[in-house]
Order: sequence, then structure tokens, then C-alpha cells
Amino acid sequence: MVKQPIITVKNLVKNYGDFKAVKGISFEVYEGEIFGLLGPNGAGKTTTLEIIETLRDKTSGEITVDGFNIETDAANIKKRIGVQLQAAGYYPNLNLTELINLFCGLYGIERSPIEMLEKVALTDKAKSKYKELSGGQKQRFSIATTLINNPRIVFLDEPTTGLDPQARRNLWDLIRDIRDQGTTVVITTHYMDEAEVLCDRVAFVDGGNIIGVDTPDNFIDKLVESGFERKKEVKLANLEDVFINMTGKEWREE
Ligand code: ATP
Repeated sequence: MVKQPIITVKNLVKNYGDFKAVKGISFEVYEGEIFGLLGPNGAGKTTTLEIIETLRDKTSGEITVDGFNIETDAANIKKRIGVQLQAAGYYPNLNLTELINLFCGLYGIERSPIEMLEKVALTDKAKSKYKELSGGQKQRFSIATTLINNPRIVFLDEPTTGLDPQARRNLWDLIRDIRDQGTTVVITTHYMDEAEVLCDRVAFVDGGNIIGVDTPDNFIDKLVESGFERKKEVKLANLEDVFINMTGKEWREE
């Protein structure tokens, strides 16, 4: 199957005053994939995402999202994307139904709150306040808010940071479901195990440059072919396996 780019970034540059945060990067995200932006703190991932999301101005470069040019068609891009907000963006004293209705009002569309909460397995929390949710539930709720406008692409900036191993796996299932229903997912994470199992392709960003784009499998195979060996003998299980085994394999409601 020929992969169709849904996001095209060409020679993107972002300067903050004299500081060059993004130094002329180019990459494509294909329709229907989970695409990971990986790299150390300060590499320029959030800056790049926020420019694509039309939330930040670029210094130069060309970007198209679902066929629309960021410079001339930002309004059309906004309608086609879902962006995960930082937690501080929610009114802590509204319940989940009220919050979904609030978002629907902002988008000017009608969606059933229960239907949206069903997508992220939170129907039993429909009358709970946002501040009463666990960390994993908060993340799932914020993903539900990105889906309200039936987006073609969702952007998730470190969605699993701070979650326990089960909640993290539960979120991976949710993100895969979103992809399987035809929505393209762009995600950042600092967890390489997560990127390895979740992302169809990843880009490594370092010091404002893209230093590689490929599938996780290809990256790993190329490293092994180059003669790389792990220093420590690899055991058949790790401490995370112990954690999951001891606390129950299935994800539990927190
Ligand atoms: P992290 O993994 O820590 O989230 P990141 O890869 O997302 O990092 P960015 O947040 O894009 O990195 O930041 C890239 C660089 O640009 C950093 O050195 C940061 O300090 C700088 N930067 C980001 N926003 C601004 C701003 N508004 N003004 C000045 N410098 C900024």
C-alpha cells in the first residue's frame, strides 16, 4: 500500500531571538500511522508540534496538514486536528459531562458526552469532577477531548508521563484504537519502550535537527548490524514485568 503523507514539513526553522530552536527540519507523517517524535529535553519537539498545530509561529519553512497550507489555511487545519491540552486547561470543579459540553460549545458542534466518555472507558465517571480523577483517568479524559471534533490527526505531547505501568498499557491500547479507527496520531514520549511497541515510525530530534526517521524495528536492526551489543546480559524479564505480574496483569480501575 502506498503511504500518503498527511503532514509535510519542509525546512522548518524556528528562532527565539538569537537562539535557533529548530534548524531547518523536514519530515512527513503518513496517514493512519502512529508517528513518534523522540529526543532529549530541549531538542525542539514541542516547538515543532505547536507550529504544526498552528499554535506558534514559525520563522521559515513550509508545512501542509491534510492538504492545507499552514500559512493560508490555519482555520481549516484547526478544524481537522485534535490537540491534547495540559491538565491546567480544565476547570477542576466541572464534572466530565459538563466539560465535554463546554468543549462542544467551543467547537460549535453537538456530541453526546456519554459517547465521548465511552471511547475512553470513563462512562462511570460522567458525574465526577476532573480533579477527582486519577492520573490515568485524567490522561484518558484529555484524549477524549481531542476527539470531539472527529479529527483527522491527534497530537499527544507526553501522554503517559507519570502513569503506572498498567495505566500506561491501557493508554497504549486506547491510542492504537484511535489509530485503527483511521485517525493519525503524532506523539512525543521519553519512554523508548513505549515508542518501540506503539509507534509505526519515529523521528529522532536533537539540538533542533532531525537525525533519523524510520520504523523502530529498522532502527534497532541497523544498530545490531553495526555490531552493537548491550553491555549487560539481558534477562528474560525486567522489573516492570515483575511489577505487572505482582500487581495483576490486567489493567485495573484506579
Ligand atoms: P522537552 O522534551 O523538555 O519537552 P522539547 O524537545 O519539546 O523538550 P522545546 O520545548 O521545543 O523542546 O524547546 C526547544 C528549545 O527552545 C529549548 O532550548 C527551549 O528552552 C527553547 N524555547 C522553547 N520555547 C521558548 C520560548 N517561548 N522562548 C525562548 N526559548 C524557548
